Amino acid sequence: MAGRSFLFIPGPTNVPERILNAMHISQEDMRAFDFPNFTLPLFRDLKKIFKTKDGQVFIFPASGTGGWEAAITNTLSPGDKVLASGFGHFSNLFIDLCQRQKMDVQALEVDWGEGVPVEKYADILKKDKNYKIKAVLATHNETATGVTSDVAAVRKALDEAKHPALLIVDGVSSIASFDFRMDEWGVDVAISGSQKGFMLPTGLAILCFSEKALKARLSAKCPRCFFDIEDMIKANANGFFPYTPAMIMLRGLRASVDMLLEEGLNKVFARHHRMAEAVRRAVAAWGLKLVAKEPKWHSDTVSAIYVPAGFDGNEVVRHANRRFNLALSVSLAKIAGKAFRIGHLGDLNELMVLTPITGAEMAMKDLGIPIQLGSGVAAAQEYLRKTAKDIKSLKPMK
Ligand SMILES: *Cc1c(COP(=O)(O)O)cnc(C)c1O
Repeated sequence: MAGRSFLFIPGPTNVPERILNAMHISQEDMRAFDFPNFTLPLFRDLKKIFKTKDGQVFIFPASGTGGWEAAITNTLSPGDKVLASGFGHFSNLFIDLCQRQKMDVQALEVDWGEGVPVEKYADILKKDKNYKIKAVLATHNETATGVTSDVAAVRKALDEAKHPALLIVDGVSSIASFDFRMDEWGVDVAISGSQKGFMLPTGLAILCFSEKALKARLSAKCPRCFFDIEDMIKANANGFFPYTPAMIMLRGLRASVDMLLEEGLNKVFARHHRMAEAVRRAVAAWGLKLVAKEPKWHSDTVSAIYVPAGFDGNEVVRHANRRFNLALSVSLAKIAGKAFRIGHLGDLNELMVLTPITGAEMAMKDLGIPIQLGSGVAAAQEYLRKTAKDIKSLKPMK
């Protein structure tokens, strides 16, 4: 097909030229004497993304799933009680991983479209007088449903119960895209991956451990080797890795962190919010509903959109793909076919975000879904124009 293809799934996301260029390099010696000049500042600057002072960042050559495994195996032992909640494909997979690591998981089932049930967590934690629960899991952004949870509120529930459990947060589709505060929210392990907000190809699991989580490794009995942070701690201290790092990815990560910090995290977050809101305005104009049940759950990185009964959301995705070379994202498991998703995270600007809206609109129209052609695009345009702060200060060119 002539022309560009368009990628609007919630990971992998579009890789900006600057990062592509940073990765277009020859292989290098990971034991070179000056290698730490590259790695040590990278570790330091990554801490700014997680918003931590005393936490420690780890980079594994893996996808986000590897990050989950690193988080769990380095802090817990088989048989440990873990409090978790499932409300979508990813939160359920995290629970599955804990079960396969032989954890005793208390998994609360939550309606898809809602997030971490903070009040239930609070209740359970208060009743757990003997501190049997060793870790509390929270999926910050459930990518399958486009639902964001309140991690600060989970911390509050732990504090009010004076509960010592570790707070382990899956931030794979939130960190570097919207607000995340490791220290302020008392997060003990934060998990991210390279292919979402970091705008890189898949291939790095990026984690941050609090001091408390670092200590937990000393008693954690889960078998581990590849993901053992002990080896990482030793080698990273001098700027090296215990095994061959994904060098090209690290060079890309350097460019990614530079881009995020140059734009400024607050601006990155504000930009994501605006792009997300533009999509939400389009959805409302189509007369369709988000899977996220209430505004408090709205995700600024991905929107899952119900199609009307009798239509197949995944057919919208297939059609957009075949006809327009546009990648939207399918709906999974419980809501398979009932919805489709638009990923709006990473390297994204106003005209880019109008693309999946335009494409989804045309695809839905082609399939007979009763929407008004142009309605979503116009609503998004209106919103983007209204919220472009500097738009009035731009003088037309003579
Ligand atoms: C993408 C994602 C993951 C990790 O998935 P991988 O395919 O292993 O990178 C985990 N959690 C969430 C919420 C995600 O969006």
